[in-house]
Amino acid sequence: MPELVGDVSADVLVVGGGYTGMWAAWHLKQLDPEARVVLLESEVCGHGPSGRNGGFCNVMWFSLPNMRQRWGDAGGLAVARASREAIAGIESFCREQEVDAWFRRGGYLQVSTAPAHDGIWNEASAVCRELGEGDAVQPLSPSGVAERCASPAFRAGAFYPDAATVQPARLALGLRARLREVGVHIYERSPVRRLVADCSFVPPIGGKSLQHRTGGGVTGHTEGGAVRAGAAVLAIGGAAKAPGGPLRSALTVTSSHIVLTEPVPDLLEEIGWTGGECITDSRTLIDYFRTTPDGRIAFGWGGGRIEMGARLGGRAELAPDVVAATADRLREYFPGLAGRRLTHAWGGPVDASPTHLPIIVPLPAGNAFAAAGYTGNGVGPSYMVGRTLASLALDRRDEPSRLPFVDPSPRHVPPEPFHWLGGETIRRALVSKENAELSGRRPNPVTALLTKIPRLIGFHIGR
Ligand SMILES: Cc1cc2nc3c(=O)[nH]c(=O)nc-3n(C[C@H](O)[C@H](O)[C@H](O)COP(=O)(O)OP(=O)(O)OC[C@H]3O[C@@H](n4cnc5c(N)ncnc54)[C@H](O)[C@@H]3O)c2cc1C
Repeated sequence: MPELVGDVSADVLVVGGGYTGMWAAWHLKQLDPEARVVLLESEVCGHGPSGRNGGFCNVMWFSLPNMRQRWGDAGGLAVARASREAIAGIESFCREQEVDAWFRRGGYLQVSTAPAHDGIWNEASAVCRELGEGDAVQPLSPSGVAERCASPAFRAGAFYPDAATVQPARLALGLRARLREVGVHIYERSPVRRLVADCSFVPPIGGKSLQHRTGGGVTGHTEGGAVRAGAAVLAIGGAAKAPGGPLRSALTVTSSHIVLTEPVPDLLEEIGWTGGECITDSRTLIDYFRTTPDGRIAFGWGGGRIEMGARLGGRAELAPDVVAATADRLREYFPGLAGRRLTHAWGGPVDASPTHLPIIVPLPAGNAFAAAGYTGNGVGPSYMVGRTLASLALDRRDEPSRLPFVDPSPRHVPPEPFHWLGGETIRRALVSKENAELSGRRPNPVTALLTKIPRLIGFHIGR
């Protein structure tokens, strides 16, 4: 797709060609086919985590206790159900638009790998039952887990039948192609340097205007041109945390790495993992696994280093030591992989909000909204967040626009370097505590205390 050269106008400017920006553009055209939508992407659409994630397409049932606590029964349930509709929406999109993203509804299996993690799903299961969604989380005995996938490391678990998997790059590139067909103007290699309110539209209203919609337009400037639009959606993932970024005080950016085995269909048969389930353990810094249609195992770890601001351009930050450790752990889960090759490894930034839930924040720059903060769980929810962004940009006062993750005053993270120092200290403490739990040792009391700090100061770690 071309770079932006010169000045153009649009009804809505979308900045960022990951899933969030692309779904927002898709929903904009579904809601208003006549709307002129321009999307600016700094590299190629899907180049960021959206094109190279683990492919888990999850419903947010495991976050329901957290969401209920923050938004009440109705708010929490509304978001959980919207995230379920998102999976159905992605499924229909792939079918109707003939995008072969390897969408497979195999469900999600959460397993315990240490006595300290047994029954960690009970709270989500109980809350789902209480709120009328009793089938969403189904506890399994160790033998129930082994029937779905046998590993010497797995204990009991829970099954979430609504979940699916996708091939992330196929979904991103398919979406990019369909956007073009429905008339979205996509410019790539066109990073937006500035987003400014355009006061020649309706002027801001009084002192309240900075954190609320002003009715004004907004202009996005790149090196080669500018897009003047009635509204803008900023969906730049972890880059929003970079110095000067719009969500620098509302996000933490960590990293995650994945390794992929050669095809091992014989092993998958042997361990009974043929149902397409995506699997995680139950630690805070999770291990995650899924299979591919050609019989490989993709395995990732969600506990990579906290990224400093300067490295947040959405690029792969492949840390060889973390990749090697990830590969070693995979073989502990499935000893039958001994002697089998790993063919690929990749990684990328993970944007986390203090609540570990996605956020949409109105920006000072006129009619502009920024979204991020999925905390490693954006593949399914980005469809839902994109739908809400489309409503906000078109000023539709509908149900998606009222979902409670639209938050004019999100929680803040501490300024740098305290944020990085504190975050890294707590991440290392979590790794140490959970490693002790896995090997049946009591965690060091100081380390265990450190892992409680985030909760004490109102930050949510985990789901
Ligand atoms: C290794 C890994 C594994 C993961 N596994 C899973 C998983 O299994 N399931 C799950 O649900 N989630 C997973 N995630 C998280 C998931 O990938 C993200 O939550 C999701 O892709 C976020 O999409 P996004 O569109 O908000 O952001 P991104 O995908 O980061 O897209 C942002 C886009 O904005 C562009 N951009 C940045 N700055 C600018 C600028 N100034 N101007 C224009 N464009 C700009 C970037 O190039 C990028 O294309 C994983 C993430 C990683 C890194």
